[in-house]
Amino acid sequence: MEPNQYVDFYQLDRRLTAEEAAVRGAVRRFVSAECMPIIVDHFDKGAFPAELIPRMAQMGLFGVHVEGYGCKKRSETIYGLICQELGRCDSGLRAMFSVQNSLVMLPIYRFGSEQQRKKWLPVMARGEIIGCFGLSEPDFGSDPGGMQTKARKKGASYILNGKKMWITNGPIAQLAVIWAKLENEIRGFLVEAATPGLRISPIKRKFAYRTSPTALIVLSDCAVPQDNLLPQAKGLKAVFACLNAARFGVACGAVGAAIACYEVARDFALKREVFAKSIASYQLVQAQLVSMLVEITKAQLLAYHLGRLLDQDEARPAQISLAKLNNVQEALKIARLARDVLGARGILADYHVMRHLCDLEAVSTLEGTASMHTLILGQELTGLSAFS
Ligand SMILES: Cc1cc2nc3c(=O)[nH]c(=O)nc-3n(C[C@H](O)[C@H](O)[C@H](O)COP(=O)(O)OP(=O)(O)OC[C@H]3O[C@@H](n4cnc5c(N)ncnc54)[C@H](O)[C@@H]3O)c2cc1C
Repeated sequence: MEPNQYVDFYQLDRRLTAEEAAVRGAVRRFVSAECMPIIVDHFDKGAFPAELIPRMAQMGLFGVHVEGYGCKKRSETIYGLICQELGRCDSGLRAMFSVQNSLVMLPIYRFGSEQQRKKWLPVMARGEIIGCFGLSEPDFGSDPGGMQTKARKKGASYILNGKKMWITNGPIAQLAVIWAKLENEIRGFLVEAATPGLRISPIKRKFAYRTSPTALIVLSDCAVPQDNLLPQAKGLKAVFACLNAARFGVACGAVGAAIACYEVARDFALKREVFAKSIASYQLVQAQLVSMLVEITKAQLLAYHLGRLLDQDEARPAQISLAKLNNVQEALKIARLARDVLGARGILADYHVMRHLCDLEAVSTLEGTASMHTLILGQELTGLSAFS
């Protein structure tokens, strides 16, 4: 029996094409058989399960936005389904997949030169090179346009100076897409981890995203060859082209985390007896389970329909914001409800709920905070910017 087969209240599975169902099924089985058994130990140790990378590459999970260069392009709907299944296991695992695909391979494919595509995409598809995306800085997260990292031309090189913070995959990455201002215009640069002047330090003592390696990157007179400038990556428009793809993935990953919490809570409620009866027989517990299912179903519908809009190239950024905002906030509420249903056991690692709850707190901030997405939607509704 496939896990979460019952969490399809509006029969979305029947809307999936054969390819979509096949990829989703393969990732679901991979997650159940190979990821779930090891994830708690890695979360406990604060370590990324690197042993999963070759298997993910073998399954064709790297390069899903790319046609050719050793990659098999998949639809946005499939990308979302993969995020949902990986998110069911762990948001850090989903983040590694999202960053590699949407924030590193996508900009190289869309904004890179032919030489850059040929050099990097095949090795990234094979999982031999992991990438990271350096946009946020210690003092500029929600306001990336204010970034202080600078690039200047010197002979046949660009010299980069600045700091990038909260960089997912940073400590395991061999390649970084670094965003820096060149003559006041934001540009994307490919920086190899071994480049002199680049220092990548892991951010430690995190209570969320423990399986996801997060870095502080310091660039001190870091010289990159001029060929490492992504020729078409210009301005915040290029940055947001990547972020929009990743934000959709976050919205879908949150559905997976919510489903995982709901399933644990439902199964637990059916087995746990208090006052000589299963707690699932009490109206208040049923109300909790029902509210979880209602919100999961709404979030699934948003994710599914947004995937279809993206596939038809019809999605607006504000629609992506709505899905990220709603799905993450509702997943957080579902994780808290599930933790309550489990009583004291809700804090135990083996029930997974507390892990998802901690991770969802981070997911609420990354890829744009809930407030930022609210402001994006507010601007869409009123035509008035309330950002500053
Ligand atoms: C686990 C994790 C992984 C991440 N991975 C990456 C990565 O791979 N690459 C990358 O570049 N970045 C990454 N980030 C950074 C992330 O994008 C930023 O943390 C996020 O954009 C918020 O920036 P900040 O933390 O600086 O908060 P700030 O921008 O300082 O915001 C602080 C608070 O102020 C609020 N606020 C700010 N401005 C306004 C306003 N105008 N009106 C109302 N409220 C406002 C915010 O909503 C927030 O609640 C990651 C973050 C985390 C936690």
